[in-house]
Formats: sequence, C-alpha cells, structure tokens
Amino acid sequence: MSVDAQMSPDPSRETTRGRGSRWTALALFGAVAVILFLVSQEFMAMWEDPPIYPGQGVTGQARLSDYYPGIEDTWADTDVYFLEGAAPGGTALILGGTHPNEPASSLTAITMLENAVVRQGRLIVVPRAAHSGFTATDPQEGFPQVYHIEMPTGTREFRYGGRGTNPVHQWPDPVIYVNGSGQQLAGPEVRNLNRSYPGDPEGYLTERLAYAIVELIRQEEIDLSIDLHEASPEYPVINAMVAHENAVDLAVEAALLLEFEGLQIGVEPSPANLRGLSHREWGDATGTKAILIESANPAQGRLRGSTNEALIVEGVDRYYNRAGEMGLLYVPFGDEGSPMEERVGRHIQTVSKLLEVFSTYNPERTIAVDDLPTFNEVLQNGLGAYLAHPEG
Ligand SMILES: [Zn+2]
Repeated sequence: MSVDAQMSPDPSRETTRGRGSRWTALALFGAVAVILFLVSQEFMAMWEDPPIYPGQGVTGQARLSDYYPGIEDTWADTDVYFLEGAAPGGTALILGGTHPNEPASSLTAITMLENAVVRQGRLIVVPRAAHSGFTATDPQEGFPQVYHIEMPTGTREFRYGGRGTNPVHQWPDPVIYVNGSGQQLAGPEVRNLNRSYPGDPEGYLTERLAYAIVELIRQEEIDLSIDLHEASPEYPVINAMVAHENAVDLAVEAALLLEFEGLQIGVEPSPANLRGLSHREWGDATGTKAILIESANPAQGRLRGSTNEALIVEGVDRYYNRAGEMGLLYVPFGDEGSPMEERVGRHIQTVSKLLEVFSTYNPERTIAVDDLPTFNEVLQNGLGAYLAHPEG
C-alpha cells in the first residue's frame, strides 16, 4: 500500500463517524432542552407571590389599579389591605416593598397586617409596593431568590427581589432618566419606584405605579404616609427617619420618645431639591405627612462576605464586624450583627410611635392600633412568633 492510499479517507469509516456525531448532537440538544426547562421552572417560580395571611384586623382589600386603572393587568398592580377601626379617625399608609432587596420593609408591612387590630381610624397597608421587583434579583449580586423565617410551627418562605422593576416588565432603560420633577438620574433608575414620584399616568410602567400610589394617598385622604426601607450599614442615612418638612416635628418627637425607650433613631430633613423620592413628592403632591424609615441590611452592602440566606436573616458578617470595630459604619455592628428581628422590630416600634405622636396632636384624626408587637417582644420571641402560618 502506498503512502497516498494510507492517507485517503475510508468511505465506510466516515459514514459511521457522521452517524455518531449526529447522535451526539441530538443528545446534547436534548440535554440543553432539559436544562433550559428546569431553569425556566425556577425562573417562573419567581413570578408566584408567597401567600400573605390577613389577620383579624383586616377589614377590606383592594387593588392599586382601583386608584389608577392604567396599571390594571400589569406587574405594577398590587394588593392593598385596609384595617379600619369601629371609631372614625385619621388614616395612615404603610408602604412595604418599595425596594424588594430590602426585606425588612415588606416583612414589617406583612407582620403589621397579620397582627394589627385598629381601634380608631384606619391603616392602609401595601406589602409589595414594587410588585414586579419581587420577581427578579439584581444581576451580579449573587442574592438567593428566597429566604426563610423560622416559626414555632415550621418555616415560612419569602422572596428576595431586586431594587427596581424587573426588566422583563419594563425595557429598555434610557441612557439618562429625567424624572417627572426634572431630576437627571442614571438610566436604570427609570425602574426605581423611589425615584419616580409623583409619577406620570402616561409614563414608564414604574412612573405609572408611582402615580397610582400618589392617587391612593389622594383619594383615601391619607394623613400620614410611611415608606419602609433598608440600607447598607456604611450608608450615612441609616436607623433614621427622613421627613418632609410637614412631618419633621412629628419625626423629631417620635425619635425623642423612642430614645427614652432605648431605641436610637436619627431624623433627617427631606432635601427640597432631591426630587422623585417618597418623602419629598408625597408631601408636595398631596399634603400628606411623608416619612421614610431606614434600617440596616448588611446583605445590601458592598463590604459583605458570603451572600446567602443566613446573611439576609441573621445579618451576621465578619467583614462588617471588622468595619464596625474600625468605626467605618453608621450603626453599631457587633457579633450579633443586624438580625431581621432587630430590623422589623425597630420598624414596627417606630411606626407605632409615629401613629401615637400624630394622634396626640391631631385628636380628631386619631389612629389607634392594638396588638402590634414591641421592639423588645420581637427580639425576645423572634419574628416567627408574629407571622401567621397556613396550619394556624
Ligand atoms: Zn430603599
């Protein structure tokens, strides 16, 4: 056999090889299809709301689109709960979940609507204000999609979301976002509910959501509106209230009384030229007393180590511990970290104090609420003791 003959392809061997690579391709295609199916199931599971169990104090329920139909059948629409007392009085709004990556916000609203019984006046609670934001986490942050709260009767699952509206629901972002008040912001802020107030009925989905919330405040003649948030421990405005000038007196007196009870909280006036935020635009647009409250969430911070459920719920992180020792943080941060009990308990006690002070100065608009746990009770008994469970 010549060298040439040795080098020439054998037709029968080539056919076998071709058949083999076809089967390999089909097998790979099948494997990819299975993987995509499984991943899509996990992705779509993010679009289901974990259940909320309204307590005996809940007297009614609506949808946000009842106040502005322009968000009906969109992911901006969300549930609104009413807790109305037998005696007439004032009305307060508790807005949770503006930023779904700040879990104590939504959890506080849920704990309130599962426990509170209103004696006089009304509470209106929106636990998932940025509903769409609960369906996706922020890219490149490594956040778990869910976290669990231990309860005496088992565990309950909650969703950890992203800071803004899911890009699947609002896309694309502009290069620069000029909000309704003329403030220029980075493009992705177009999906940030707390940069979109007072909203625009014809604008982006997030602006329409903001508009619907302002319409809720207007149509329900809400006296006091509270927006619950969290921020990283290295952020200067932390364990603090940010108050519109129409609510600074109220916030300062509440902070003094909270300090007497051992709860340190600061008060910051809402800057008049920082547009698009709840504590500014709610007050300007409707006259409601507008206050935003921040607690400390190490899972949001840039100094954090492992990003997992334990960090979200227990809030213990050795890098934050070290930063605290070096005096780099705006909150005390020791071995106990910043656990969810502490953050939700702090929010509930602050809201309770604001309602109490508001009612003292506006007796004809009193909002009297029973059965909310105190800061110390949540710390001692755990948050799970105050969350409802499907098995009772
Ligand atoms: Zn926030």
